[in-house]
Amino acid sequence: MNHDYRLARERMVRNHLISRGITDKRVLQAMGRIQRHVFIEEALHGEAYNDHPLPIGHQQTISQPYIVAMMTEALELKGTEKTLEIGTGSGYQTAILADLSRTVYTVERIRPLLENARKLLESQGFSNILFKGNDGTFGWKDFEPYDAIIVTAGSPKIPEPLLKQLSEKGRMVIPVGNRAGQDLIKVTRVGNSFKEENLGGCRFVDLIGTHGWDA
Ligand code: SAH
Repeated sequence: MNHDYRLARERMVRNHLISRGITDKRVLQAMGRIQRHVFIEEALHGEAYNDHPLPIGHQQTISQPYIVAMMTEALELKGTEKTLEIGTGSGYQTAILADLSRTVYTVERIRPLLENARKLLESQGFSNILFKGNDGTFGWKDFEPYDAIIVTAGSPKIPEPLLKQLSEKGRMVIPVGNRAGQDLIKVTRVGNSFKEENLGGCRFVDLIGTHGWDA
């Protein structure tokens, strides 16, 4: 079946994003345009545009659309940014970022997920994404500094290397807390100080690595 789900996406944007306070027009357009169903297994396609997380294998999940929109909006992307993503997972959030940034650098620790996302994103025509299989709590030093950094897994603290790789006026969003629940923290860099803002509660899978949780 070659179903585009365009109407389901429009409904998702209206009912789950606009009605819950997402206002950034570029974010709403990207989420209306990018197909979420292609990033999940076919048996779950019918659920792709409902507002909940879904399994993507390896005990990981694709985040719910509202959280993707909220985190992306917080990055204030205008289209000129170098954006770093930690936790490629399915590649769905990567696609949204690639649509809204100049270049996306994405790091994933589980190789089969990374390779799957790479294939999928290349087949979708994206050519502004660089992929790396590694512990992303170290960031990606070769291309620092980044105007925007997004971490899509929950961490006990903000990894120090990521703060160092944030550009002047750069924004980072990261879930920080314990393994059962976190707060979404937005960090803005001004010189060598980091302004923190709490965007609310959330629940992510663990960020596993040297500057995150132990495996
Ligand atoms: N943004 C993804 C969400 C995937 S879930 C999506 O839209 O599908 C979080 C991902 O973070 C998982 O794939 C997990 O393997 C990855 N992850 C956890 N710890 C990591 C680390 N230290 N470095 C890189 N990726 C990590």
